[in-house]
Amino acid sequence: MRVLISCDMEGISGIVDWEQVTPGKSEWQRGRKLMAGDVNAAINGAFLGGASAVTVSDAHWNARSLELEALDARAVLHSGSPSPFSMLQGIDDAESDAGVGYDALVCIGYHAMAGAKKAVLCHTWSENVLNVWLNDMPVGEIGLNAAVAGHYGTPLIALSGDRAACREAQDLLGPDVEVAVVKQGTGRFAAECLPLPIAREKICEAVATAVARRKRGEGTPPFRVATPVRLAVEFKFPHQADRAFLMPGVDRVSGVKLEYVAPDMVMAMRAFRALTLLAGE
Ligand SMILES: [Zn+2]
Repeated sequence: MRVLISCDMEGISGIVDWEQVTPGKSEWQRGRKLMAGDVNAAINGAFLGGASAVTVSDAHWNARSLELEALDARAVLHSGSPSPFSMLQGIDDAESDAGVGYDALVCIGYHAMAGAKKAVLCHTWSENVLNVWLNDMPVGEIGLNAAVAGHYGTPLIALSGDRAACREAQDLLGPDVEVAVVKQGTGRFAAECLPLPIAREKICEAVATAVARRKRGEGTPPFRVATPVRLAVEFKFPHQADRAFLMPGVDRVSGVKLEYVAPDMVMAMRAFRALTLLAGE
């Protein structure tokens, strides 16, 4: 039972502001410690639930937010960027020579999609993306990553973040996704935060329960998106869409909205990352 833990930062216990999740800013070092605390609770939960191996994918910013020395030594860490799968680096291990994949995906410190209500630091990949759709279904980072994992037959079984992120995961993937609500957003830069020992206990428990259920063959199935995948991205400004439109094969739907048809979810995600990179500031 191999578990991949994707760890973002905006949904980490106690985090409420960019100042705490941006390298070089005043509260950055403090934010990293908080992040390591939540991910260690998840690693512990995975092993308590019966995992045989745990890999952590650093999923925030340049993927150098987690310090190896701060992590539970039972886990392996994917660090650094750009990597082929970004927030889910390692997910394609199923196709490695070893022939072993991940039986489950756990998302820690995740946040709600751009524009969500009472959602701490909500966004979708970039501050310049207003909306993303997969086959007309609105998605944020939770949906995008769940769909990439689904391509490999790996279900997203547990997620931690604020109430809005946890609700978004269950609305999209069903009530069987175990969630750990570590804070309740009262605004985009404000939240009621649980005490750390309680938040981490909730994370550990949610992950342990989800892994144990997965071992019994229960719980949420892989999130599979119908192929070909029609990806649509709405940017904040037309000049960003002007630049993203340079990608061959893209359709311009409006001043700010582009569409791209990809053969599968892995290619759709690569296209999404390329479009956001091209769009720039
Ligand atoms: Zn992030």
